[in-house]
Amino acid sequence: MMLQKREVEGSGFRYPIELHEDLSGLREKLESLKKVSRFFIITNREIAGIYEKYLIQEIQSLSVPYTIIYAKPGEKNKHIDRLKKVFHEMVKSDADRKAVIVAFGGGVIGDFAGFVAASYQRGIRFVQVPTTLLACVDSSVGGKVAVNLDLGKNMIGAFHQPEFVFAPMFTLSTLPEKEWSCGLAEIVKHAFLDGGEFLNRLTHVKRSDFSAGSEVLRYCIDESVRIKSNVVGQDEKEGGLRAILNLGHTTGHAIESLTQYKKYSHGEAVSIGLITALLLSRKILGFSDSNLSKAVQIMKSLSLPVRLKEKPADVLTHMEHDKKKEGKTLNFVLLEDFGKPKFGVPVERDLILEVLKFQKGWEELG
Ligand code: ADP
Ligand code: ZN
Repeated sequence: MMLQKREVEGSGFRYPIELHEDLSGLREKLESLKKVSRFFIITNREIAGIYEKYLIQEIQSLSVPYTIIYAKPGEKNKHIDRLKKVFHEMVKSDADRKAVIVAFGGGVIGDFAGFVAASYQRGIRFVQVPTTLLACVDSSVGGKVAVNLDLGKNMIGAFHQPEFVFAPMFTLSTLPEKEWSCGLAEIVKHAFLDGGEFLNRLTHVKRSDFSAGSEVLRYCIDESVRIKSNVVGQDEKEGGLRAILNLGHTTGHAIESLTQYKKYSHGEAVSIGLITALLLSRKILGFSDSNLSKAVQIMKSLSLPVRLKEKPADVLTHMEHDKKKEGKTLNFVLLEDFGKPKFGVPVERDLILEVLKFQKGWEELG
């Protein structure tokens, strides 16, 4: 059953993001695509181990043939070296330009399968079936697809919008805790960028309100998709505005790379980075103390990490290596107020260090 739906619309693209209870209805959605020669479902064995039977139940009676391709799980396998094998499998199955890729998994699968679709024979259609909260609220919205090089994450990529996104809520029932944090951090980020009623609602929720299919979860996914698709609709290719979605990510990425992607999930690192961004916002743009307390309270009640544990100087070094640096000063997305983001704000190294030190020792963070 379809629970809710949002359209993402920009110049030259428009597609629905649908929240469904389970996978029933996916077959009809796939059948509605015109002139498909074959579906290539890209997933991994972890996800397939739990959900493949439901998926097959749904697609076995499709009038179009399908092939399931298993990618290896994990961010390190979202690698350029893994593409060739998939392309070869597709060629061997006679995939032509009417083939359609179905990404069945989290953000890693979505990015990887999306890139396969963007590049196979210069681009074929694809569909996203996200199975993690992060993929539902963030990575499946907006058409950024990519693979990693040894020398950097998401270095090789494209903008390639899906035909539709079909999010089956029941898959979230098996989502590991760390993965919930991942999605929740991006939800909070969207609420900070929006600043409206959504943010107020978040001050009244707690982590335990989030479970597969709960009303709070559905509301937060809906609002997140609304906010992100609104931004992406105005600026698909990050000419400007889309950069605001990087709120918290300059520090977040630095913490992830500093800890070799082992200690924190992406969302946990971004949570800490969101607080850094707000502390900088207080120093530079007059973001208020009461807003800062509100943000900390929301993040704590969602059990998201807020305190910096790493050495400030090390975090700064890793920030300076980030691909987003321009010249010598680092640029940040900051907030004047909730709902009033500014991107490309240059910040001096000394101020970054001062704020990181503060975030390491600040008592209010508990
Ligand atoms: P993200 O969406 O945060 O980028 P990934 O795609 O890396 O996450 O998925 C994180 C891990 O969780 C992977 O090991 C993946 O196989 C697994 N996973 C994805 N969806 C589910 C699910 N619904 N239930 C259980 N595990 C899942
Ligand atoms: Zn992110």
